Amino acid sequence: MMKLSKSDYVLGCSCPKALWLKKHRKDLYKNDSGNFIENGYDIQNLACQLYPEGIMINAEPWEVSKGAKETQKLSREKSILFEAVAELPCGAFCRADILQKSGQGWNLIEIKSTNSIHPEHIDDLAFQHFVFSKAGYQIKKHFILHLNKDYVRGRNLDISSLFKTEDVTLQVLHKQTETAAQFAQLYDIQNQKQEPCVFVNKNCLNCEFYAYCGKNIPEYSILNVFRADKIKKIYEQNGSYEVEKLDLKKYDGTNAIDIQAWQNKEIIIDKQGIRDFLQKLVYPLYYLDYETVMPAIPLFEGSRPYQQIPFQFSLHIQKKQGGECKHTSFLHKQKTDPRRALAEFLIQSCGKKGSIIVYNANFEKSRNKELAEMFPDLAENIHAVNDRIVDELIPFRSRFLYHYLQQSSASIKKVLPAFTSLSYDELDIHNGNEAMEGYLDFIEGNLTLKEEQNLFQALETYCGQDTYAMVLLMDVLYKYSK
Ligand code: SF4
Repeated sequence: MMKLSKSDYVLGCSCPKALWLKKHRKDLYKNDSGNFIENGYDIQNLACQLYPEGIMINAEPWEVSKGAKETQKLSREKSILFEAVAELPCGAFCRADILQKSGQGWNLIEIKSTNSIHPEHIDDLAFQHFVFSKAGYQIKKHFILHLNKDYVRGRNLDISSLFKTEDVTLQVLHKQTETAAQFAQLYDIQNQKQEPCVFVNKNCLNCEFYAYCGKNIPEYSILNVFRADKIKKIYEQNGSYEVEKLDLKKYDGTNAIDIQAWQNKEIIIDKQGIRDFLQKLVYPLYYLDYETVMPAIPLFEGSRPYQQIPFQFSLHIQKKQGGECKHTSFLHKQKTDPRRALAEFLIQSCGKKGSIIVYNANFEKSRNKELAEMFPDLAENIHAVNDRIVDELIPFRSRFLYHYLQQSSASIKKVLPAFTSLSYDELDIHNGNEAMEGYLDFIEGNLTLKEEQNLFQALETYCGQDTYAMVLLMDVLYKYSK
C-alpha cells in the first residue's frame, strides 16, 4: 500500500502528474529545497517557543505509525503536542505542527515561514482536518501562524509580535467536500500504473520535473513568449510549442517582435525609441547596483521580516559618452546593520548632478525610500538620488532594441550575452541569490576568516560586473541609435 502524506496531497493539488512522478520515478525527484527548509525549521523552532508547555512527539519523520500511537497516548495527558501524527488504514497520514487542546476537542495550528496566507496553506490544513477527523480527533478550529510583515524589530527579538495567528476555520471547513473528493482522486492516481497526462504550461518552467515533462520542448518556445492563459489555445492551433511554427501575421506588439526576431534570427531596432531614451541622460552618469539580503527573521533593529537590506553597492562613474569609468564601491564587512554607512557613502559618492543609471529602477528606488524613512536626517539627499534615477531596463523591455537571443526576456542576464561577450560563467558568484546566501552565511557567523575574505572578493567582483555590464549596454544603445 502506497502512503499519501500531506506534502504529497499538496503537491498533487498543484499537479497530479508531479505526485505520480514523485511516487514512481524517484530518479527524477530531488526535493532540493535547500535554505528554504532550513529557514522553515528556524521559524518553526521559534514559533514553538510561544507554547512553552508543548511536548514534541518522539518519532522520526519516517516512523509514521509510532508517531500516531505516541500522539494518541500523549493526547490523553497533554494539552499541546508538536509534530502530532494521525494515520488512516488506507495509508493517508499527516503531521500537524501544533495540536492544541480546546475543551473536548482540538485545534490545528500550522506554522508557515511566509508573511501572509497562501491558498496552498488552506489545502494543507484541509488535508490535516480530513485525516485527523477520520482518525477520531474532534477538530474545532484551524489557525495559521505566520510571520507578521508589520513587525519592526527592536533591540531584541519579540517572538510574540514576530508572529501573527489567523483563524482560517471557515475556509478549511468550506473545503471539506472538495478535499474528500480530491483525496480519492489523488489516491487513485498515485496507485495507477500509467503516467497521467498533463498539459505542459508556463508554470511547468519552475517545476523540478520540467526537464522530464518538457524534454521535447525547445529551450525557447511559446512558453517563453506568451502569458499562461494563452498558451494552451496557441498550442492547439499550431500543434507545436515551437516559435518557428507560429504565423507571425496573427500577433502584434511585443509578441510579434519576439516571434519575428526569432524566426529571422535578427535584431529588431527602434532607433527613435532608443534616441528618446538617450536624450534624457545627463552626464556624468553614475551606474549603480545594490546587493541585498532579506532575512525571514529580522536581524537588525528597525527591520521587518523579509525586508530587503542593502549591504553592498557598486558605482561606475562616466564623465562623457563612451569615456573611461571611475569605479567605487561599498561592502559592509562587519556583522552589524549596514544601512546607515551604505546610505552615507552613497550620498557622498553620487555627487549632486548627473543621471544615476540602474537596471530595473523599482528595486533601487524602493530600497532608497526605505533608507530615507529609516534615516530622516538623510532623507532629503536620498530622495535627491532617487529623482536622478534613469532605468536602463526600459529600452530593452520596451523592445526599442531586441536581440533574438534574449528569448523574450529583458533581464540583464539575458540581454548582456546577447549583445556583448561579457559573461558571469567564470565568476564565483553568478547571481543575486548566491550573493544573498553568501552574505547571510557571513552575518550568521558560518564562515572562517579565509572564507570571509574569499566571499568579499567574490562579492566585489560580482557587483562590479553588474554595473560594468550596464556601461557596456549603454555603449550598445548608442551604437544601435545611429
Ligand atoms: S512539469 Fe508540469 S506537468 Fe510535469 S510534473 Fe511539473 S507541473 Fe506537472
